[in-house]
Amino acid sequence: MESGGFKRPGLLRKLFEFVFPHYCKVCGHRLDPSEEQLCVTCFLGMPRLGYRADVINPTERMLLTEK
Ligand SMILES: [Zn+2]
Repeated sequence: MESGGFKRPGLLRKLFEFVFPHYCKVCGHRLDPSEEQLCVTCFLGMPRLGYRADVINPTERMLLTEK
């Protein structure tokens, strides 16, 4: 899985982004080809829950047990 929703852009992706630019879902700024949904500023500004990745946190537990 990509970390943070960012991945390395290829030439075809760069061309596609030039013709059909994407915008940040939070602030609406045009995204860099290496960004997918959020700009770096919004991504870094998101609040962190502080849970360890290898331990099931209360939110995951609630979603996993939801019927
Ligand atoms: Zn943004």
